[in-house]
Amino acid sequence: MTGPALDFVIAALERIRQTSDRAPRASRTVLARLQAEVLQKAGTQPLTAPNKAELLAPIRERVRGCTKCSHLACTRTQTVFGVGNPDAELMFIGEAPGVDEDKQGQPFVGRAGQLLTKIIKAMNFAREDVYIANILKCRPDTPAGTFGNRAPTPIEMQTCRPYLVEQIEIIQPKVLVALGAAAVEGLLGTRGTMRELRGRWHAYNGIPLMITYHPAYLLRNQAPSEKRKVWEDMLQVLERLERPITERQRNYFL
Ligand code: SF4
Repeated sequence: MTGPALDFVIAALERIRQTSDRAPRASRTVLARLQAEVLQKAGTQPLTAPNKAELLAPIRERVRGCTKCSHLACTRTQTVFGVGNPDAELMFIGEAPGVDEDKQGQPFVGRAGQLLTKIIKAMNFAREDVYIANILKCRPDTPAGTFGNRAPTPIEMQTCRPYLVEQIEIIQPKVLVALGAAAVEGLLGTRGTMRELRGRWHAYNGIPLMITYHPAYLLRNQAPSEKRKVWEDMLQVLERLERPITERQRNYFL
């Protein structure tokens, strides 16, 4: 990085360092974009800022080799980074891979995932149009010989959260949807009941965030009233995205 732009950035970082007791930080994504812009302005490189898929690729590689939670690194089949369109305007966030996701290496592919896919289709998106990721990239381990999944612990979520932060920073969706209380806690650090949290707008780093029930909850609780709540949350998401909503969609029940 050369030239007046770099001098400006260094001076700005210096000012932050002098006036704050926290060290200035810039993510790899921001630095990569800044470097591309500066090089382009300096005429040393054509306008080829890395695209979002290229920016995500090295993070995926770091996740693949991550052993920060040693107990999960040695029990996982594979990491589950995220799937979908890196240019998505809509991004769903769940809590952690389950047994099916651990086997297939993709988030939301089990029964709950099939219901999420149904919701996405009812919104008139293809699954490939949106981006889907979890707070945790490894399946929370369970005692040998037991079945089912367990919720991630707060420490596991804190440890893995920076990867998701980088994913969101690159994808920059117009709207985020957090599925379930654990996803909310992992993303915002906020604990609350879904009754308090769902159905209204929150924000994560300036991005509108809708909180709704995890599809697994709807599989456990088949009451039409609960399914309708999720769908009403998705109608709000469609409105926020300024997508057309048909009469059929308005009256839809999952
Ligand atoms: S859960 Fe996240 S932080 Fe922990 S080992 Fe897996 S990828 Fe690394």
